Amino acid sequence: MTRIEELEKMARNLEPDSGQRQSISKEADAYVHQFLENLPQMPGYQTGEVNRLKSVEISEEGKPFDELMGILKYEVDKMGINSASGNHMGYIPGGGLWTSAVADMLAASTNRYAGIAYSSPGAVEIENQMIRWMASIIGYPEAAHGNLTSGGSIANLVAIKAARDFHQVNSDNVKKSVIYFTEQVHHCIHKALNTTGLHEAVLRAVPLNENYQMDVCALKEQVQHDVEHGLNPFLVIATAGTTDTGAVDPLDEVANIAEANDMWFHVDAAYGGFFILVGDMKNKFKGIERSHSVVMDPHKTLFVPYGSGVVLIRDREALLTSNAHTAAYMKDAYGLDDIDPADAGPELSRHFRGLRMWLPLHLHGLAPFKAALEEKLLLCRYFYEEIGTMGFETGASPELTVAIFRIPENNGNTLNEQLVKELHKDGRVFFSSTTIGGKLWLRCAIVSFRTHLREIDGALTMIRENALKVATLDRSTNSDKAQSAVRFEILIKET
Ligand SMILES: *Cc1c(COP(=O)(O)O)cnc(C)c1O
Repeated sequence: MTRIEELEKMARNLEPDSGQRQSISKEADAYVHQFLENLPQMPGYQTGEVNRLKSVEISEEGKPFDELMGILKYEVDKMGINSASGNHMGYIPGGGLWTSAVADMLAASTNRYAGIAYSSPGAVEIENQMIRWMASIIGYPEAAHGNLTSGGSIANLVAIKAARDFHQVNSDNVKKSVIYFTEQVHHCIHKALNTTGLHEAVLRAVPLNENYQMDVCALKEQVQHDVEHGLNPFLVIATAGTTDTGAVDPLDEVANIAEANDMWFHVDAAYGGFFILVGDMKNKFKGIERSHSVVMDPHKTLFVPYGSGVVLIRDREALLTSNAHTAAYMKDAYGLDDIDPADAGPELSRHFRGLRMWLPLHLHGLAPFKAALEEKLLLCRYFYEEIGTMGFETGASPELTVAIFRIPENNGNTLNEQLVKELHKDGRVFFSSTTIGGKLWLRCAIVSFRTHLREIDGALTMIRENALKVATLDRSTNSDKAQSAVRFEILIKET
C-alpha cells in the first residue's frame, strides 16, 4: 500500500493542475499567435542546424515548459521549408488552418475513440459525415463509403488493396494481371503496389500526351493487346492533378475503357480533388463519378494541417470485404448499423481526424474554401502569364495550380540547376524542381490558403532577381549557352 501511494504521487504529475494547465496553455497560445503574426514576414525556406535539439535527452525529471518551447521555436519552427507560410510554393503545399488546430486540441483533450461507433457514436458520426460529404462532392452514390487516413499515401494503399481483393488477384494469378498508369503517378502508388504484392503484376506505363496526361488511345490499344494475349487487365490508375504539373487525366475516357474491360478505375485526386468545388471546374473532372475509388487530401486543398487524407470507395461492400476482420476481444462492438472506421481501413486506434475538418467547415462555411480555391486557380494563371512574359520557357498551360517554367537553354540544364540553387539560397519563397523528359523544370505550386497576390508578386520579383544573377554569371563563357543567356537577360530586364 505504501508503494502504491508513493507511485500515485509520482504518477499524478502526468495531470497538471488547473493553474499549471492554464499557464502552459497561455504560453503555448501566445507562441502560436506570435508565430501566425510573424508568418507573412517569414521566409519560405531557411537552412540551419538542429544541434541543441540533438542534445536534449529524455530524463527522469521533467523540464520547464518554456525551455522546451525555446527548442521548438529555434530548432524546429525555423529551419527547413516553412510549410505554414504562403511563401511555400514547392511540392504540394498545405498551409494548416488554425481552426483545425483548435479541433485537434479538443479531440486530443477529450480523447474520443473514433474507431468504433460503440465507443463514440458522435465521433464516428462526424467521421462518417465527412466521408459522405466528400463522396457527394465527387458525385458518388449514397452507398459509397471510405476512410479518413493519415494522408494520400495510405488512402491510395487502401484503394489499391480494395481493387486487388475485389478482383481476387492473388499469388495464383498476379503475374498475368495487368495494371495501367502513367509515369506521372505519385510515387506512393509504387509503394502501395509493393505493400499489396502487386508489384509482381504486369505494370504498364501508358504514354503521355503533350499535356502530360494519360494518352487514352494508347491505353485502349494496350488493354486490347493484353486481352488478346490472355492477360488479365484489372486496374487502371488515373491522376486528377499530378504532382509535377497539375495535369488531370481524361477521366471520362479512361472510365469508358475501364468499363468496357471490367477493370477497377482508381483516381488519385490527392491534390486536385477539391477543385471540383469551384463552379466551372466540374467539367474538367467529368468521369470521376464513374470511378471505383478516389483519393483526396484535405491536408492539401482543404488546407487542414498534415495528417488528413481520405479514400472513397463507390462499392462499400468492396471496402468492407477488404478491411473488416473480427476479433474475440472486440465482441461488444459488433452489431451496430453505423460503419465503424476500424472496418473501413487498416487502422484501429487513431486520432479523431474528422473533427479537424468538421469544425472549420462549419465555423467558416464552405464559401471561403471555394473562394480560396478559385483564387489559387487565378493566381496560377497570372503567374504563368507573367513568367512567360519575362522570357522563361513555360510548360503546358496549367490545368490547376501548378505552373512549370525554366530558363530557356537548349543543351542541358546548367543554368536551371544554378537557378534552383540560387532560389534555395535566397529562400524568401520556396520552389521545388522536377525533371520531365530530361529537362529540368522549376515548379510553382500555389496551394496554401495563405498565398495571395502579394506573395505571387514577391515570388516573381525574387525569380527575376535570381534569374538575372544566373544569366549574368553565364556570360563569361563564349558558347551557344552564353548567347542564349544574354538573350534571356535582355528579355528579363525589359519586363
Ligand atoms: C500528395 C500526393 C500524394 C501523397 O499523399 P500524402 O498525403 O503525401 O501521403 C499522392 N498522390 C498525389 C497526386 C499527391 O499530390
